[in-house]
Amino acid sequence: MVINFAAGPAKLPEEVLKEVQKNLLDCNGSGISVMEMSHRSSSYGKIQETAINDLRELLNIPSNYRVLLMQGGGTGQFAAVALNLIGVTGTADYVITGSWSEKAAKEAAQYGKVNAVLPKEAKYISVPRQNSWKLDPKASYVYYCDNETVEGVEFDFVPEVPAGVPLVADMSSNFLSRPIDVAKFGVIFAGAQKNIGPAGTTVIIVREDLIGKHLKSTPSILNFQLMDKNSSLMNTPPTFVIYVMGLVFKWIKRNGGIAGMSKLANAKSQLIYETIDKSNGFYYCPVDSNVRSHMNVPFRIGSAAGNDALEKEFLAKAEADGMIQLKGHRSVGGIRASLYNAVTLEETQQLANLMVEFYKNNK
Ligand code: PMP
Repeated sequence: MVINFAAGPAKLPEEVLKEVQKNLLDCNGSGISVMEMSHRSSSYGKIQETAINDLRELLNIPSNYRVLLMQGGGTGQFAAVALNLIGVTGTADYVITGSWSEKAAKEAAQYGKVNAVLPKEAKYISVPRQNSWKLDPKASYVYYCDNETVEGVEFDFVPEVPAGVPLVADMSSNFLSRPIDVAKFGVIFAGAQKNIGPAGTTVIIVREDLIGKHLKSTPSILNFQLMDKNSSLMNTPPTFVIYVMGLVFKWIKRNGGIAGMSKLANAKSQLIYETIDKSNGFYYCPVDSNVRSHMNVPFRIGSAAGNDALEKEFLAKAEADGMIQLKGHRSVGGIRASLYNAVTLEETQQLANLMVEFYKNNK
């Protein structure tokens, strides 16, 4: 048996994979696979519409918000957000708290003036409180990343923005893991390959009045207005991915909805952080305790700087026990356990058990 702690593409619910397998050759009685269906057919149309409606229900998305499905991943949205919004005043505020928001700011700087709200940090291990932020009341939008996947830094509050300035959030790695008040946001986006489904589509939730403000040079494929006008069917979407996404939304609905996912995420992450904190410094998580991610738990072994030999041994032992993809991101090293929605409490308990055993044998 293998337990997959990957940061993304990540584990999908087994129930969903079995459903995909069962329906692979004959989707919903059509006699063909979903992969072989025209994206203009009513059979496919129903699949996409149901998925979007289920998402609207899960997140209680207000009626003045549109849901778009686009390609290009999270990285595509780094460009799309700027192309669609920065032209309003020519500038945007970026709250940089980790690698992904840093990348997003760099991408946006190609299309307008980017104002860094925070001084540059040597290490991303905290979220400075909002009273220290320098927000520009004339910004086209304020951008932040709700959960920094590499560093394991997750916001413990929703930023307050100046009146009339929309808030844009990258929720790629914590989407559908905790309740959100969509009405506080101008745009929310999330790449699929963590809590949504296989890689290949990106969900964008955008407030209606923010559509149509794109720069003239915006490529059609990244244009919110064109995508919206064409119900995300302007060109051929990744139909199979969207089909699986729809099954994942149904699975979440069957498993307590967002409240159920949130409860589970709290329990799983607490288990690992407690194991770290009770190890007398043998395991070390650098992130401030109030912003430790419920989805991605990074830690070092042996010391704050990490002990390469011990970390290698831990990864080898984990792999021998069937626990895979625990290596930290190449930019920060160490270990990272990603605990997305499909990872069970029992699986997380096994990782905690391994950590306790490894600590006892090596302290
Ligand atoms: N934002 C976040 C928070 C991410 O974790 C990632 C990828 N892991 C991205 C953006 C980039 O996504 P993609 O690889 O789909 O472009």
